[in-house]
Amino acid sequence: MAELLTFEAALSRILASASPLPAEPVLLAQAAGRVLAEPALARTDLPPFASSAMDGYAVRAAETPGSLSIAARIAAGSPATVPLPAGAATTIATGGAVPEGADAVVPVEHAAERDGHVEIPESARAGAHIRPRGGDVREGAVVAESGTRLGAAQIGALAAAGVDEVTCSRRPRVAVLATGSELRAPGDQLEPGQIFESNRHMIAAVLEPAGAEIELLPVVPDDEPAHREALERGLDADVLVSSGGVSVGPHDLVRRIAAELGVEESFWGVAVKPGKPLSFGTRGSTLVFGLPGNPVSSLVGALLFVRPALLARQGLTDPRPAFDVGKTSSALRRNVHRDEFVRARRSFVAEGVELAPISGQESHMIVRASSADALVHVPRGSGEVAAGEVVRYVAV
Ligand code: AMP
Ligand code: MG
Repeated sequence: MAELLTFEAALSRILASASPLPAEPVLLAQAAGRVLAEPALARTDLPPFASSAMDGYAVRAAETPGSLSIAARIAAGSPATVPLPAGAATTIATGGAVPEGADAVVPVEHAAERDGHVEIPESARAGAHIRPRGGDVREGAVVAESGTRLGAAQIGALAAAGVDEVTCSRRPRVAVLATGSELRAPGDQLEPGQIFESNRHMIAAVLEPAGAEIELLPVVPDDEPAHREALERGLDADVLVSSGGVSVGPHDLVRRIAAELGVEESFWGVAVKPGKPLSFGTRGSTLVFGLPGNPVSSLVGALLFVRPALLARQGLTDPRPAFDVGKTSSALRRNVHRDEFVRARRSFVAEGVELAPISGQESHMIVRASSADALVHVPRGSGEVAAGEVVRYVAV
């Protein structure tokens, strides 16, 4: 592991290998969280007709102030069939279609109705409280661009614009396996020397919300045939993620067996802490990640490297981790050789975000790490980042 790649260089290599998956039609009801492979276009003007923004009276602005006869009553959902006669108003509900000839709505609280007439004491401005047809979007215009991940607002926008099906890239199939003869399932009885297996479910919990269809492979003991069988199976997926067995020990078999199975290693080792011995390679279009087994290393590797790869395979416009800025509440010593991702807790204070590093930063301390909601990026170098300095972080 002579020269380590930087965080940015490793991420760039991964993303360069992450080819987009084929597109498929997706019903809107199933599209939340999916990434558009084609722009989605409005099926109608929105609003589809000029409509009232208030409960009130549709009038000609030029006939206000004044007393107007009530010509019709327009509820939401009923068409405005007749033009507004001269000297008249209609009642109109919020969302009701403004009748031809009317150019303003007077809110109900600014009018008084009696005996089939409405008194309007103030003059109305032309256009007041009317939502023009197509004011939000025009039929045929883009509602959401290709490469957009569909969140709640986009789903709402597509539904409002009449779109019931979209074209999205297929969800990546991700095989997750863990290696280590010491690992037992949570709930089992631990014998001396054994620990509970934590990484498969944790990695799945990072990747599933990022769009993955997860296949959890069994835990693999540290022997060659078991590695061969599990890795071969995992290589059928779009992305294979293993944990453990990528360091320099005699039982670290993942890279060698993966190579025997035709995986071309792109790199081994990234100048980050935790997570240095991460390996990455490809077989055909399958991406192969070997995450180190220490649980915090696996977590950070999944968040910073695997998740972006999944988003890239789905065609997301910017799959890289989203960094924000905040101030560290205590000094952070820099590591000379490696960028460090320090687990911290965020709080929102008047000046912005404050980041308090948690105690217990070692890479086996997953319980300590679980109280963090931010990874603070401490670039490699000498000296320290002083308390109060601005730092970049990724929310987790
Ligand atoms: P390795 O990367 O295989 O050398 O493992 C490094 C450390 O992480 C060792 O202490 C392992 O016991 C531990 N470890 C490896 N895989 C897991 C896992 N799936 N769950 C919990 N701990 C693990
Ligand atoms: Mg191991």
